[in-house]
This record gives sequence, C-alpha cells and structure tokens, in this order.
Amino acid sequence: MNNIFVYCEIEDGQVAEVSLELLTKGRSLANELKCKLEAIAIGHKLDGVEKQVMPYGVDTLYLADDKRLYPYQTLPHTSIVVKLFEEQKPQIAFMGASSIGRDLGPRVSSALHSGLTADCTSLLIGDHYDKKADKKYENLLYQIRPAFGGNIIATIINPDCRPQMATVREGVMKKEILDPKYKGKVVNLDVSKYVSDSDFVVEIIERHMEKSKLNIKGAPIIVAGGYGVGSKENFRLLNELAEVLGGEVGASRAAVDAGYVEHERQIGQTGLTVRPKLYIACGISGQIQHRAGMEQSAQIIAINTDPEAPINSIADYVITGDIADIIPKMIKYYKKN
Ligand code: FAD
Repeated sequence: MNNIFVYCEIEDGQVAEVSLELLTKGRSLANELKCKLEAIAIGHKLDGVEKQVMPYGVDTLYLADDKRLYPYQTLPHTSIVVKLFEEQKPQIAFMGASSIGRDLGPRVSSALHSGLTADCTSLLIGDHYDKKADKKYENLLYQIRPAFGGNIIATIINPDCRPQMATVREGVMKKEILDPKYKGKVVNLDVSKYVSDSDFVVEIIERHMEKSKLNIKGAPIIVAGGYGVGSKENFRLLNELAEVLGGEVGASRAAVDAGYVEHERQIGQTGLTVRPKLYIACGISGQIQHRAGMEQSAQIIAINTDPEAPINSIADYVITGDIADIIPKMIKYYKKN
C-alpha cells in the first residue's frame, strides 16, 4: 500500500538498464517517503531477475512468468500491471520511456483513471497548496520535464491521481547498487488470475532483432558535431579525432537533419542521453534540447567560432575558433601523446 512501483523490462532474461536506473531513483524516493520499493517483471524464465534487481533495494518483487508473456505483448502485460496496481495501490509508478514503456504506460494510467507524465528528466518529492480548494497536499511526486519545445521546464503534479505515473528515458537517472546483499521478498503471481486467453490476440511467428553496432552511450569520450561542422565530409575530421581518442561520434539534431550524420548518433531531448567522461562539442550552439542529452558529462570542451555560444556556459573548457583549424591540431597533438 502506498509504495513505489517500478515496471522492469526484460530482454532475454536481462533487466533493462533503464529499469535499473528507475529502481535506483525509486529507492531514494522510497527512503524519503519512508515507504517500500516494489518491482514487477513479466515474461518467461525469470529465474535470474531476483539476483539482478534486489541489490537496488527492492522490498517486494512480483514475477509473472509464463511462456506466452515473452516477448512483450500489449494486452496481457497491461492486464497484469493494471490488476496488480488495483490490488497493491501504489502511490507512484515508473516505467522506462522505451517503446515498451511508451506503449504500456498510457494504457495502464488510462485504465486506472490516473495520469502519466512522459519523458521526465527529474523526479522529486514536494508539497502543494491548492488555493481554490484551500487544500494542502503533502509528499506529491514532482514530475519535471522540458515542455513547449524545450523552452520551459515544467513541473507537473497530479494531486488526486493514484498512482502518480512517470516514464523516464534511459541514461537520464543514475544507476547505483544500494547493497549487493539486499534481500527482499519474491511473490510469484498466479498468471491465470491476471490474464485471460482473450488477451493473447497476437501470435508472434518470428522475431528479428537488429542490434546497433554503435555504442555511443557506453563511450568514455564523445566527439559531437553540430550544424557548424558544415558538411558530411567535414564530419570525417570528427571521426578521426574520435578514433584517436578511443571515443565515438555524436551529433546535434541540426547536423542529423542536414544529413551530415545518421540519426542513431543524435544526442539530446529527442535523441540519446549520455554521460561520458569527456564530451567535445564541435560547432554546436548548445540549445536546451541538445543540452538535455549531454550536460551531465563529466567534462565538456566547446569548440565554437562564437564566443557567446550558449554551450560555453556549461563547458569546462572553451576553445573559440573554427573547427577546421582546431580539430586537425588536436588530432596531431593526441596522435603524438
Ligand atoms: P546551430 O544552432 O545552428 O549552431 C551551430 C553552431 O556552430 C553555432 O553556435 C555557430 O557559432 C557554430 N559554428 C558555425 N561554424 C563553425 C565553425 N566553422 N567552427 C566552429 N563553430 C562553428 N537538438 C538536438 O541537438 N538534439 C535533440 O534531441 C533535439 N530535440 C529537439 C526537440 C524539439 C521538440 C525541438 C523543438 C528541437 C530539438 N532540437 C534538438 C533542436 C535544437 O533546438 C537546435 O535547433 C539544435 O540543437 C541546433 O543544433 P546545432 O547547435 O548543431 O546548430
């Protein structure tokens, strides 16, 4: 009752990174609210899930294990989560803003007549005073996300909705083990009580998984190019610098839209969220939508002809100049050292 729930996505027996990040966030909010952290995993052959999630401080793990529940299917997964939430009445529930979370979250919140804030970038606990009703609400979930094209940061609350639901994209929250020996309770659900045969309207005949060879999220160094790079050809300089440094190439949306580089490399609000040790922003102005995906990098170097470029305000080092002059010098220097 009144606990925090995290829906854990499972792929080949592995709990998704975004779910582990949400468990970390859920644990810290549960400590603040002095409530329990609970998790649900739905799929097949879930034996290894307990070991993966407990170190994040899960008090109760609900498992719905059935051959028909893997891979993900909209109706049966929705039915299980809705029924479990009706029983357990969580005050807060989180899901990844992945293709699964984006499908499942709105269905669950609509079935429960609740609300959902998508793509949150921060989650906090706070109070609210409703002047009209002269009513004070305590310990609400502040769901914080960019709005109006990223021009404002909105704090959204749903005082009378339960659960207060939010989705968060991978990489936005930090993942941190609480205690490797943390021991919560495991509850194996009787799946037949949560789904009916009529929920299985889809027959999956074959699955083809395309795995990207890029590892931008895991790269310790990212050399990111923006519209200021000027052309697809000029991006070769960035590729060379990334290679010399053992990093990956990222990009702003303007560079992607201009066709300089493929979409999988886009960083920002509608692209990837990254936290490398070093982020080199080349010819990127630093609009809020781009910063949303990279400002948690440990060190930022900005290379820009404009000394007033907004990216400079969050950079640790600013190089004012043309990338055509600066990058070849950097390549030469790092090749030598
Ligand atoms: P510009 O803003 O055009 O900046 C180019 C920079 O290059 C300038 O600062 C200029 O001084 C510099 N420059 C020019 N020539 C040189 C040179 N030779 N050497 C060095 N510097 C040079 N953007 C993203 O990046 N990621 C997103 O996920 C994203 N999502 C969005 C979502 C929404 C809903 C909206 C409305 C926008 C989104 N955007 C996103 C777009 C964002 O608002 C900006 O338009 C975009 O980030 C600008 O990219 P840029 O900095 O490369 O280009």
